[in-house]
Amino acid sequence: MADMTPIKTKMPEQEPTVRNKNFYEVSLGYTAEMAVKEANRCLNCKHRPCVSGCPVNVQIPDFIALVAKGDFEGAYEVIKATNSLPAVCGRVCPQELQCEGKCVRGIKGESVGIGRLERFVADYHREHGKDKSVNIKPNGKKVAVIGAGPAGLTCAGDLARLGYSVTVFEAFHTAGGVLVYGIPEFRLPKSVVAAEVETLKTLGVNIMTDMVIGKVLTIDEIKEMGFEAIFIGSGAGLPMFMGIEGEDALGVYSANEFLTRINLMKAYVDGYDTPIKKVKSVAVVGGGNVAMDAARCAKRLGAENVYVVYRRGEEEMPARREEVHHAKEEEIEFKFLCNPTRVLTDENYRVTGIECIKMQLGEPDASGRRRPEKIEGSEFVIDVDAVIMSLGTSPNPLIRNTAKGLDVTPRGCIIVDEDMMTTIDGVYAGGDAVSGAATVISAMGAGKRAAAAIDKRLQKE
Ligand SMILES: Cc1cc2nc3c(=O)[nH]c(=O)nc-3n(C[C@H](O)[C@H](O)[C@H](O)COP(=O)(O)OP(=O)(O)OC[C@H]3O[C@@H](n4cnc5c(N)ncnc54)[C@H](O)[C@@H]3O)c2cc1C
Repeated sequence: MADMTPIKTKMPEQEPTVRNKNFYEVSLGYTAEMAVKEANRCLNCKHRPCVSGCPVNVQIPDFIALVAKGDFEGAYEVIKATNSLPAVCGRVCPQELQCEGKCVRGIKGESVGIGRLERFVADYHREHGKDKSVNIKPNGKKVAVIGAGPAGLTCAGDLARLGYSVTVFEAFHTAGGVLVYGIPEFRLPKSVVAAEVETLKTLGVNIMTDMVIGKVLTIDEIKEMGFEAIFIGSGAGLPMFMGIEGEDALGVYSANEFLTRINLMKAYVDGYDTPIKKVKSVAVVGGGNVAMDAARCAKRLGAENVYVVYRRGEEEMPARREEVHHAKEEEIEFKFLCNPTRVLTDENYRVTGIECIKMQLGEPDASGRRRPEKIEGSEFVIDVDAVIMSLGTSPNPLIRNTAKGLDVTPRGCIIVDEDMMTTIDGVYAGGDAVSGAATVISAMGAGKRAAAAIDKRLQKE
């Protein structure tokens, strides 16, 4: 008989006023007792709606049943069969829109804490378990993967398990993509990502870092090296800007640059010599998850006042509710219904403030959200010494500009057919490079589908 408690077993977390001064993980994870208790809330439904909500098809009720019995390693094997990055997904997936969004327990209370349980199982395995040796039979075929983000790593892992010799070409000096350069340490510790990447290496995946494809090698040159198929998982790392006066001033960052300096260049480590401005007051422009990460990082770096400036209202914010809640708890101040009109500077062209105009919501636009409209004459100034633009990203043009015949949409996203193949024969693509900025799990799902399609093609050959 399931435990019918209507709410999820609470996960311990650091106190807001403590955690907003450090980069340690906010959520501390379940203990074994908490995990067993939460697992007992699962009804083990026959029609398994949660599985249909998971883009990588984790057999959720099966792993939860094993957690309930205390067989945590057994649960890990179930998850691992279809998800190569469980500790990552358990932490950052928007479960409320996916598996948990479909959970029957959510109808009359809170869904089962599937993400929390996945995280517990993956962490338990990392701390107590051992990877089972996988018997891989090499098939003599070589596949190249461009980009070591969730899409590329998943594609690489699946192909390696099928016996392919896989080489991943990664532009940065570290594998992980946004998982290491974008998502901050307090939401996803780098050591967790590194451990998952190490597991992939044990499958024989060869990761070559500092390889900017389009500069060091082109797609044609990779083909000439004997790779029989190529998967492009190069993400969407090109930031967008507003085009307003003063946006190129000293002290204006894109969220990507700001977060890369903190994460990959280790500004989050005390005393690390990273070129980043320690600011007193900062305005983060945008209302998505990336804006929340940038704001919360700025606070942790010591900013006294952190404002999130968003042109619509709280209801319309695309950021996850949980992230907004955490940000508010950490004393981030939200300025809803206002939009920047110019960045103000001093005689040295350094940021001194941001001028905004108040907005009101009109009729719904093409996205279905109510259109923000200016209230003429309502301009006001917020005094800040830095501005972080977090307005979305698009795919970097480097690969498309150097790969002959690679068709893209007007927004620069790579066009693929139903088998994930691009307009170049034998070259596949997936993740943010195809969809535009999306989620970790959707990128992983794309990497999986591409691996299956590549295998189908190369098996035929
Ligand atoms: C700050 C931030 C927070 C986020 N938070 C969440 C979250 O909480 N939950 C969630 O689900 N999603 C989140 N996302 C979105 C999610 O991280 C992405 O959708 C996902 O990482 C996309 O995976 P990908 O593999 O397609 O691309 P990426 O993760 O961008 O990886 C692409 C990789 O390709 C490399 N690359 C690019 N160009 C080249 C080249 N020319 N040659 C070689 N390598 C190249 C890049 O260096 C990178 O390592 C967040 C995104 C950001 C920016």
